[in-house]
Amino acid sequence: MSPRRIALVTAASKGLGRATAAALARDGHDLVVCARTRESIELSAREIAEETGRFVVPVVADVSVAEDLDRVVATAIDRFGALHVVVSNGGGPRPGTFATLDEAAWRDAIDGTLLSTVRLFRAAIPHLTRAGFGRLIVITSSSVREPIAGLLLSNVTRPALAGLCKTLSKELGAVGITVNNVAPGSFDTERIAHVHQHVAATEGITIAEARRRAERSIPAQRLGDPRELGEVVAFLASDKASYVSGQTILVDGGRSAAL
Ligand code: NAP
Repeated sequence: MSPRRIALVTAASKGLGRATAAALARDGHDLVVCARTRESIELSAREIAEETGRFVVPVVADVSVAEDLDRVVATAIDRFGALHVVVSNGGGPRPGTFATLDEAAWRDAIDGTLLSTVRLFRAAIPHLTRAGFGRLIVITSSSVREPIAGLLLSNVTRPALAGLCKTLSKELGAVGITVNNVAPGSFDTERIAHVHQHVAATEGITIAEARRRAERSIPAQRLGDPRELGEVVAFLASDKASYVSGQTILVDGGRSAAL
């Protein structure tokens, strides 16, 4: 259990973001969480608060809009007076190959996946520096280590985030801030269900078969439970991880072949 600290998790009404917010709350953090849909972010905040007894403040915000990110950080400061842990998560770039992705798709991916994290961290760093303690964590993808077929925009923007984290870890180490990225393999969320639907449609197989294929490609022989990702982020946010910085932590059931 860490001392009471304030955490912010973006894109946190469902899936990995929600599981991360819940894990941080179980570890004693009070939270600001955001997503674009009011109903689901308010519900998720209420459920996490009831489960854990922590304060969880929901904000309606789109991570691809710079002013929204400033507002989310400002909410943490207005409400709690400090900020210690920032987890950058988002909806993820759309699938596609070089031939199918146009200029607008590239711009959306750079804005929504790369610049969203840059802007969030830029707004948050002065507060973490003032606190003399900070954890900056990005939820990326196993595409940081191994490109994934059909996910060109992820294969380009996620490694850029790993580069951002590594560089920032060197710039911020002296003020007590660690910077890491957590790279999920395949987790049982709505987004991964859509990926299986897409695979089924393009390859002429059933959705159940697409899921079985994905499971067979993982040494653990199953998709991850989002809680298993959230707990890793919570560890990185804790005092236990005080000497871990500039790292890509794969959480993929052993799927990646890279050393
Ligand atoms: P998910 O279950 O679809 O949940 C996405 C969450 O993000 C929702 O709360 C959604 O709420 C919010 N969101 C989406 N776009 C947003 C935006 N522009 N601004 C603010 N909030 C936004 O997705 P997930 O599976 O948890 O994936 C989360 C991230 O991890 C994605 O970037 C994904 O690419 C990456 N990832 C996931 C896996 C996996 O196996 N699941 C693997 C590798 C990487 P609203 O729609 O209401 O905004």
